[in-house]
Amino acid sequence: MNQADSGIITALLEKEGYQQASSEEEAGIIMLNTCAVRENAVERIAHYLQHVKGFKRRCPELLVGLTGCIPQYRREELFTDFPVIDFLAGPDTYRVLPALIAEAGEAGRAARLDFNPFETYDGVTQARTQSLTAFVPIMRGCNNMCAFCVVPFTRGRERSHPFGSVLDEVRALAEGGCREITLLGQNVNSYHDPQSGADFSRLLDAVSREAPETRIRFTTSHPKDMSHSLVDTMASRPNICNHLHLPVQSGSTRMLVRMNRGHDIEDYRNKIEHLRERIPGISLSTDLIAGFCGESDADHCQTLELMREVRFDSAFMFYYSVRPGTLAARTMPDDVPEEVKKQRLQEIIDLQNGISAELLCRELGSVVEVLVESESRRSSDQLMGRTGGNRVVVFDRGIYQPGDMVRVMITGSTSATLIGRAAENLH
Ligand code: SAM
Ligand code: SF4
Repeated sequence: MNQADSGIITALLEKEGYQQASSEEEAGIIMLNTCAVRENAVERIAHYLQHVKGFKRRCPELLVGLTGCIPQYRREELFTDFPVIDFLAGPDTYRVLPALIAEAGEAGRAARLDFNPFETYDGVTQARTQSLTAFVPIMRGCNNMCAFCVVPFTRGRERSHPFGSVLDEVRALAEGGCREITLLGQNVNSYHDPQSGADFSRLLDAVSREAPETRIRFTTSHPKDMSHSLVDTMASRPNICNHLHLPVQSGSTRMLVRMNRGHDIEDYRNKIEHLRERIPGISLSTDLIAGFCGESDADHCQTLELMREVRFDSAFMFYYSVRPGTLAARTMPDDVPEEVKKQRLQEIIDLQNGISAELLCRELGSVVEVLVESESRRSSDQLMGRTGGNRVVVFDRGIYQPGDMVRVMITGSTSATLIGRAAENLH
């Protein structure tokens, strides 16, 4: 979401004549587009600001701005904590950035941190660094109040992008050669276009028809709102990837209630079962939080049990960090000691790594369709791409290049990557 927002910020500033600098040394303005979801993200920004101080010392007219969720959340106190900052803009105020930058240049400091429940940046086309894959936001904000989560406080009320605007953007991307589009929202299943009455499955179906040669992905699906009609759409449209990211957070219903997730583990199991019946071989990923307030050893064991049972292809795994202002921060003691959180997280990571590696091993000898994204990180003689199930595949470059869809025979695997040999160029 931040990558997409950075594209919006760039487009808005380029329209005013600004250009992207090729390095920090050359820049007249350094802007950090920030995330506040976990404490760790906030710490990284603090660390980077320390680094920026050096540039500012050498070039006092340099302007430093913080955009996105951290300023929305920490507001003007950031000016005191980090005097290097000149301006602050929240996720709903990017349209006024040119004026804000001018104000900061003249007055020394400026901030715009209002929520705008109608802002979807309709009519602004994201500046993109490459045309092969693209993120297309379909909504902003979130109306859920998961007890651990800061998003409703930083990104405001949920609003959906107009149905027609999403389709226009998708069409333009496909015509421009984009091979994979990911629709984005904090809870895509609650997409609702008030004008047409379209829900998410209707939007997804229409998007997949608008760009029939383009792979379509989406994230994030909230388990409580995942409908059978969405699964039907996924099953019926060949260019919608056979992959679903369905964050469960915990394997314990007791914890899900405390987290205010709005569903229990039985619901989750039933949804997974239904998905696997309707879309055999679907690849599944999830988010897991270790050590949320009140989590006992028994709750933690239920998370491990769920992981063994579902066998997710991959997972984003975190230990809980308190986010001031959230329901949990206000009403629940952060009572799992840090070393226990870390130990539980490690057990979760070890288990998931083992499962991911086993699942990858099973692909040995199979032939998969890979959309080539780039050269592999290790060698320019190899290419890296993904399967529809979102598995990373590396293979010898041969005659292929980024953008090709290649059939690859899998000959080996590491813990997170499939290794293969090109079998045939598809198109
Ligand atoms: N909207 C998505 C959903 O509900 O599944 C998730 C969005 S959240 C930005 C991404 C992930 O960060 C969450 O699924 C959760 O696992 C993790 N997360 C959020 N708040 C957290 C916190 N306070 N501590 C640790 N992890 C957190
Ligand atoms: Fe946060 Fe829950 Fe909204 Fe996801 S659904 S963004 S976890 S409040």
